[in-house]
Amino acid sequence: MSVAGEPSFRESVDLMFKQATALMDLGPGLQEKIRVCNSTYTVRFGVRLRGKIETFVGYRSVHSEHMEPVTGGIRYSLGVNQDEVEALAALMTYKCALVEAPFGGSKGGLCIDPRAWDEHELEQITRRFAYELIKRDLINPAQNVPAPDMGTGEREMAWIADQYARMNTTDINAKACVTGKPPHAGGIQGRVEATGRGVQYALQAFFRHPEDARMAGLSGDLDGKRVVVQGLGNVGYHAAKFLSEDDGAKVIAVIERDGALIDEAGINIEELRQWMSRNDGRLAGYPKGQHMVDGARALELDCDILIPAAMEGVIHLGNAANIKAPLIIEAANGPITFGADQILRKKGCVIIPDMYANAGGVTVSYFEWVKNLSHIRFGRMQRRAEEARSRLLVEELERLSNDQHLGWQLSPDFKEKFLQGSDELALVRSGLDDTMRAAYHAMREMWHGRDDVHDLRMAAYIVSISRIAATYKSKGL
Ligand code: NAD
Repeated sequence: MSVAGEPSFRESVDLMFKQATALMDLGPGLQEKIRVCNSTYTVRFGVRLRGKIETFVGYRSVHSEHMEPVTGGIRYSLGVNQDEVEALAALMTYKCALVEAPFGGSKGGLCIDPRAWDEHELEQITRRFAYELIKRDLINPAQNVPAPDMGTGEREMAWIADQYARMNTTDINAKACVTGKPPHAGGIQGRVEATGRGVQYALQAFFRHPEDARMAGLSGDLDGKRVVVQGLGNVGYHAAKFLSEDDGAKVIAVIERDGALIDEAGINIEELRQWMSRNDGRLAGYPKGQHMVDGARALELDCDILIPAAMEGVIHLGNAANIKAPLIIEAANGPITFGADQILRKKGCVIIPDMYANAGGVTVSYFEWVKNLSHIRFGRMQRRAEEARSRLLVEELERLSNDQHLGWQLSPDFKEKFLQGSDELALVRSGLDDTMRAAYHAMREMWHGRDDVHDLRMAAYIVSISRIAATYKSKGL
């Protein structure tokens, strides 16, 4: 038990797992095999910085190797600890199974405040951490493939990829050792936005089913929905930007480390983000809206959709009863504790669970890994062939119209869109949308199809655990 008598993050995940397996017929042995974390490696290493040796503590946890490689992000935060890394690794296993990404679950973390070090120092620390993991095959294209998470991004992934390549000079698949790299270093278009884009696709999938929206007392689509977002980092920024710019949702509050910005008229996310990047990541002083110093209180604002996109455990026994949002989408991992989840569901709140909601990142990481192994950009072979076929059809229609004096005129806008072959970004978005729709469909069939499944989280766990169990059984376990 941790703060205020609540279970730890890891215990929360286990409790949710056990609630799901109680509704399944797996047998205790297999259940336990799926639940436990296979291994956690702890490393303490020294780096000479600013004239003295600094010692850092890092982890790489492998939850399940029922499929290999295993995958999962590397987090840089002072809060990183073994319990957290293991909880996140377990969530990765369940997430991959739910979105049918053929990986086991893993996660890594380094206890560090990345803002306390300059770029050159961070590169030294990252390379040294990567060295320790690579030499134990805890980073390897066939066995363990990290990705970005809180506090890390393209830059760190590029350093890790380069470190692996230096240590494995003849590995032709070296670039596939890590995902989330920048496109010029073997990455894929659309990976940076992927998790936030996935949150958008998840909400679109939800609102495509009016009966699901009604369970939260909502109707219509995303247009005009009032949204509160916590964390304007990679995931929160992209989710809030796409929902407001593409779907017409209105972001009425953004919560960050230094408080909340509230504006009923709707916040311009791009403008705010630019402003924050010029002001050391702070919201305070932004010229529009009102500033609330106690940011966490803004989670309790009246709104249609609450998007916690910062960190775990922010909705807990202490504030769950005050949450007014009828729909919460867990863009972060584990933002709602086990106890809070029960309180919210009793109130009728619908929760779109983390394992589904933020799976866009690992989905596009999967595409990147496949791209690296195939050594070719998606769309390179097909794009112009696709365009040529479309052009043939347009020309034939125009010829028919002329010959038969039908007077048909294809609008220039339609023609331009129709004649455009799919480039890598379009293919990535299409693959991600398809994945999010398919996983939502699997969850909702379980949710509505069984009398003993009352929420999307339980549905997600059951779908996912059934798939993992099937893999284990087919291996003869
Ligand atoms: P990030 O570091 O880019 O952003 C986190 C943001 O939250 C930052 O802007 C930070 O200032 C803010 N924040 C931190 N503590 C806060 C607090 N107490 N209150 C309000 N804001 C706070 O991290 P990210 O990559 O966007 O990850 C966020 C969450 O999403 C994590 O739970 C992570 O595990 C999860 N996630 C990330 C990815 C990914 O692809 N990056 C994929 C799946 C899940």
